[in-house]
Amino acid sequence: MTAPAAPKDFLPFTRPTIDDETIAGVAEVLRSGWITSGPHVKAFEARLSEYVGGRPVRALNSGTATLEIALRIAGVGPGHEVITTPLTWVATSNVVLEVGARPVFVDIDPVTRNIDLDRVEAAITPATRAIIPVDLSGLPVDRDRLYALAKKHQLRVVEDAAQSFGSEWRGQRIGAVGDLVSFSFHANKNITTTEGGCLVLNDEREAKLAEQYRLQGVVRSGYDGMEVEVVGGKFNLTDVAARVGLGQLPHLAEFTARRRELARDYFAAFAASSATALGLRLPIADFTQSNWHMFQVVLPGERLSIKRAEVMALLHAAGIGTGVHYPAIHLFALYRRLGWKAGDYPHAEYAGRNILTLPLFPAMTSADVTRVVTGLVGILEAHQKRTTR
Ligand SMILES: *Cc1c(COP(=O)(O)O)cnc(C)c1O
Repeated sequence: MTAPAAPKDFLPFTRPTIDDETIAGVAEVLRSGWITSGPHVKAFEARLSEYVGGRPVRALNSGTATLEIALRIAGVGPGHEVITTPLTWVATSNVVLEVGARPVFVDIDPVTRNIDLDRVEAAITPATRAIIPVDLSGLPVDRDRLYALAKKHQLRVVEDAAQSFGSEWRGQRIGAVGDLVSFSFHANKNITTTEGGCLVLNDEREAKLAEQYRLQGVVRSGYDGMEVEVVGGKFNLTDVAARVGLGQLPHLAEFTARRRELARDYFAAFAASSATALGLRLPIADFTQSNWHMFQVVLPGERLSIKRAEVMALLHAAGIGTGVHYPAIHLFALYRRLGWKAGDYPHAEYAGRNILTLPLFPAMTSADVTRVVTGLVGILEAHQKRTTR
């Protein structure tokens, strides 16, 4: 990062909340003599399985590994196409390339900022095997329409729910229903294991495959039995990380509730300002389904005399951290080399240039929200493009 060093009272865009009991628990694991995958991973998997209504769950060392293994379990490989959104963390489509398949991007709906399901059907070809929907900032993609499409065209779904742990769709937890569901427990996600992830599977056969893919393909039996049938990698979660996750899970409901309150504060503060008159676009005001992983606004790029980076620099100077989630994937050099170009997905490109993640994490206060809104609106007001009448 090239951002200048932050002062002491700097408000970051996110920060994990880890309690003392968890910190003490981690120290215990470190002293226990067994620090990599063991009893705490098993216990973490059991709690996660309870959370998703008893479906099998396997823990892994990242959300990226989880997505890749989900694609392998779904049988996706060379010659296959996988439909996804261009406005996501690049991991979502990198894993498609990693298994030898081709990502097929479908532009976003500029209001939800998620994949536009109206455009998915036109992107399906005989090579399509799966769809990877992403719940950007925790706002769930319409699961009814998604699974109706998948059923009609006999496609697998690998839900990239990295950002939507704690979100719901029509009263059901994300992960509790559906095909393969991938979560991330990266430090910035709503609950963390420092780094980590987990995969929700359909049955024990898939769970066994996940275990093989996550650790060198090895299957053990008895005291000395070992067999290898598939090429697996090194994707196991450590007990140290699992202990962090076990300490986070009991706080999920409270974290989500707090994030929703802060999101409401954002809407109230923006409503009392000139923000929308200045062209700022707010997210969808959903307080029942989204876990508010992020509060993202879209700057009115064409109406500002400064670029997003300058807006971020001015906020940074005022002690406010922001983030960009995300630049449109198809414009990265790697993807351009594979044939994509500017103009392919105009809504994702506009969002990719203008989207801005504002601070939102459970330990933040309403006063912090006011400070962010005042700071941002002040910058928008001061840097309007002069219009010739
Ligand atoms: C965080 C994230 C991932 C990857 O998770 P890691 O645990 O960092 O590997 C994938 N997709 C999305 C949408 C994410 O936000």
